[in-house]
Amino acid sequence: MGHVIRTEEQQAAVDGLQRFLTAEVEPIFSKEYRDTLVPKPLMGKLMRELSRFGLISGTVDEAHGGMGLDWLTMIMLFEEVATTSADLSVPVLINSFGAYMLQQLAPQHLRERYLPGLVSGELFCSIGISEPDVGSNVLEIKTRARRDGDHYVLNGEKTWISNGSYSDFLICTCRTGDDPRRGLTHFLLDRKEHPYEVRDIHKIAWNSQSTAQIFLNDVRVPATHMIGNEGEALKNTLSMFERSRVFVAAQGLGLGRRALEEAVRYATERKQHGKVIAGHQLIAAMLAEMATQVDASRLLVYRAAEMIQAGVPAEMEAAMAKYFACEAAVTVARQAVQIHGGNGVTREFLVEKLAREAIVAPIPEGTTQIQQLLIARALTGINAF
Ligand SMILES: Cc1cc2nc3c(=O)[nH]c(=O)nc-3n(C[C@H](O)[C@H](O)[C@H](O)COP(=O)(O)OP(=O)(O)OC[C@H]3O[C@@H](n4cnc5c(N)ncnc54)[C@H](O)[C@@H]3O)c2cc1C
Repeated sequence: MGHVIRTEEQQAAVDGLQRFLTAEVEPIFSKEYRDTLVPKPLMGKLMRELSRFGLISGTVDEAHGGMGLDWLTMIMLFEEVATTSADLSVPVLINSFGAYMLQQLAPQHLRERYLPGLVSGELFCSIGISEPDVGSNVLEIKTRARRDGDHYVLNGEKTWISNGSYSDFLICTCRTGDDPRRGLTHFLLDRKEHPYEVRDIHKIAWNSQSTAQIFLNDVRVPATHMIGNEGEALKNTLSMFERSRVFVAAQGLGLGRRALEEAVRYATERKQHGKVIAGHQLIAAMLAEMATQVDASRLLVYRAAEMIQAGVPAEMEAAMAKYFACEAAVTVARQAVQIHGGNGVTREFLVEKLAREAIVAPIPEGTTQIQQLLIARALTGINAF
């Protein structure tokens, strides 16, 4: 299910990955670690295996040891991961964008030291922007980096940080100056050399991977661990969002697609009133609506990925994809539960988990409301934030 026109190479890559995910990955996330944290060694093994299929390694060009895939092919592969497990898609996404950031912005010594490990799946990174008082408005970041000779001293608290407890290093957005826009700077903190405290957060779903609070108390980081230029973190983060939002949109797409697949299976097996429930017109209509929502999500996601690949500005299209696909996931997962009747709210059936996971999707990487504001601003030129 879920095919659009693909090249032969893309189809082969998707098919190979799908076989691996079904055989090796599905049981881990649907049974053994259905709602509990996958230990780092096992998650690390999965990262190494997925990297061979072009995940994580795809965002990095061959000169830096990656596979240098195009953005549409990467999205197609990522959709398969998210369809198998939203949890697994999170470390894939964060490590992919950590690698992309290092390639694009980091000084050579940091690239040489951290990029190969990320690309091969040996290392985990976190990207720390959000804080307890700072979510949708990143201009308000409070975590401070104070210059002290050839070091910076960091103090503050980050929250909702994906990969937190797995992380070997953290790319942290800090305030180095008072100008809201030009006062933010990225630093790379090595967990062993510049220790930060990590505490996992328990959530409604997405608990098989780590989302954590990170505490920085007088952490001394060499000035050479700056990523990008001082004061350019906001500019660099915003340019990254265009790409990363398409991946978060693909998480919504994967969740919706999986809920649809589960609903189709159940509706063609479960019998009531003398026939399978798919033969009742109200269920048929629900399935048709779900499939249309999922396909519309896919078209928005793929279009944004193609625009990015073509080098065309895609802020509005990425926002549309993220907004629509993540909200569609919530609607489709809820309908999948409805089609399962009472079974849908038990742990015996996957749709219960999918519904909880879908509720999370419209929040990270800019909430639905933030995407709507971006779309409207692109249309009218008026800032309604
Ligand atoms: C599972 C998960 C993983 C995450 N991973 C990371 C990560 O790796 N790194 C990281 O830095 N952050 C991460 N985040 C944080 C995420 O980016 C924020 O949760 C998100 O940006 C929203 O911020 P907030 O939660 O503080 O909500 P708030 O910004 O407080 O928003 C609360 C509500 O107000 C609405 N709102 C806010 N401003 C406006 C406005 N101007 N107009 C209308 N409505 C508005 C929002 O849409 C929302 O409904 C993650 C979050 C989750 C849930």
